[in-house]
Amino acid sequence: MANNKAVFLDRDGVLNVEKGNYVYQDQDFEIAPGVAEGLKRLKQAGYYLIVVTNQGGIAKGLYTADRVRELHGRMQQVSDNALDALYYSPYHDSISRSLMRKPDSLMIERGMAKFGIDPTQSWLIGDAHRDLVAAANVGITGRILIPTLKERESELAIAVVPDFAAAVAFILS
Ligand SMILES: [Mg+2]
Repeated sequence: MANNKAVFLDRDGVLNVEKGNYVYQDQDFEIAPGVAEGLKRLKQAGYYLIVVTNQGGIAKGLYTADRVRELHGRMQQVSDNALDALYYSPYHDSISRSLMRKPDSLMIERGMAKFGIDPTQSWLIGDAHRDLVAAANVGITGRILIPTLKERESELAIAVVPDFAAAVAFILS
C-alpha cells in the first residue's frame, strides 16, 4: 500500500549551488547552505528523501556515473546518510531520449514504487520548471521552486522560496 511520504529532490541548484554548467568536479560541488540540517529535519519528520537528477553530461562523455555517485557520497556524509535513494538520468536529448529524463517522470515513478510513496502526501523541490512538470505528471501537488539563475517562476509551483531552508520550513509548517 502506497502510504509513505517523500520529498523528491532535484540536485543541482537545490542541494548544491548552481554553477551555470555541469557540476562534476569536486571543487564545483558546493553543498548549498542549510542543506545538511534541512535534510536531517525532513528525515526526522518521516519523509523518504529521494534525489532525482538529470545528468546529461554522462551521455555527452563529460563524466561518468561513478563520479555522480561519488558526489552523492559527499552529500550523504554531511547529512548523516539522510538520503534514501539516488536516481540519475544519464541521457541527453541530443544523444538519446529517455523517459528517465525530466520533464518525464520515470525516475520519480521508480522511487514511488520502491518505497510505496503516496504522491498526495509528498513534495518535490526543484529549481527548474521541468522538475515541477515531472512531479505534476505523477500527482505530486507539493511542488516548490527555488529560483536559480535559470528560472524565476513556474505556474506549477505552490511555493517559490529563496533557498533550501525556506523550502524545508514550508514543508514542515
Ligand atoms: Mg536543477
